[in-house]
Amino acid sequence: MSKKVIKTENEWKKILTPEQFYVLRQKGTEPPFSGKYYYHKEDGIYICAACGNELFDSKAKYDSGSGWPSFFEPLSHDNIETEMDYSYNMERIEVKCACCASHLGHVFPDGPKPTGMRYCINSISLNFTERKDKK
Ligand code: FE
Repeated sequence: MSKKVIKTENEWKKILTPEQFYVLRQKGTEPPFSGKYYYHKEDGIYICAACGNELFDSKAKYDSGSGWPSFFEPLSHDNIETEMDYSYNMERIEVKCACCASHLGHVFPDGPKPTGMRYCINSISLNFTERKDKK
C-alpha cells in the first residue's frame, strides 16, 4: 500500500470535479448504469480517482447486473478499508480507499465464487490504468 494521503475537504474540492467530490468525499452514489466503467472490460487495474491507490484488478470484475462496476475481491485487503454504514435506514458495509479514506462504494455478501462477495463500486471513484507487471 502506498502512503496515506491526507488533505482537507477544501483541498479535495479543488482537485476533484463536483461529481467526484460528492461521491468520494460526501459518500454519494452515482446513478446506476451511468458510470464509465460499468460495461468496461479491458485488462488492467482500477485505481482510486482521488489518490491513485491500486484498488481492483480487472480479473476480479464481473457483471452483477446492478448498474455499478462489481468485483469479487479487492486487489489487496490492505488497500481498502471497510466500515459499517447505517445511513438511509440500511445496514451496509462501506468500502473506502485505505490511503485517502475516500468513499468507493459498498460490499455485499451476494457475489460469485470464489469469495461470494460483491464489491459494488462507483465508476466515478475509479480510474483505469494498465497493469504494471504485464507478462
Ligand atoms: Fe484514495
